[in-house]
Amino acid sequence: MEDCLFCKIIAGKIPSKKVFENEYVLAFEDIEPVAPVHVLIIPKVHISDTNDINDENIIYVSEIYKAVKEIAKICNVAEDGYRLICNCGKNGGQTVHHLHFHMLGGRELGDKIV
Ligand code: 5GP
Ligand code: ZN
Repeated sequence: MEDCLFCKIIAGKIPSKKVFENEYVLAFEDIEPVAPVHVLIIPKVHISDTNDINDENIIYVSEIYKAVKEIAKICNVAEDGYRLICNCGKNGGQTVHHLHFHMLGGRELGDKIV
């Protein structure tokens, strides 16, 4: 996906503050953090959103979940906890249409999710 912002970050065409990377997964700091820890975890192939997950690309999603605990350790939030958020589409508030999970932590986030 040539005009996808996160594909450009994966390709190194746009710089990012990388936190974790393996064959399937890239995690980097959000450019506008809303918590002391705000990391975006993305698949290293273009998947637009959760509606775009299928039998062929599901491996990338399971690898993201496998990587979460490692990323949490790196970000020093494994013990105190964190929130993972995945927005989908207009009503979900998705602004970048490459599947991503926000890892938020470093403070108590409260009980509101909207
Ligand atoms: P969404 O609203 O789609 O769930 O989240 C998109 C996130 O991407 C936002 O939190 C936004 O701050 C972040 N973002 C947008 N552009 C860039 C960028 O160029 N670099 C980084 N690191 N994050 C970005
Ligand atoms: Zn993309």
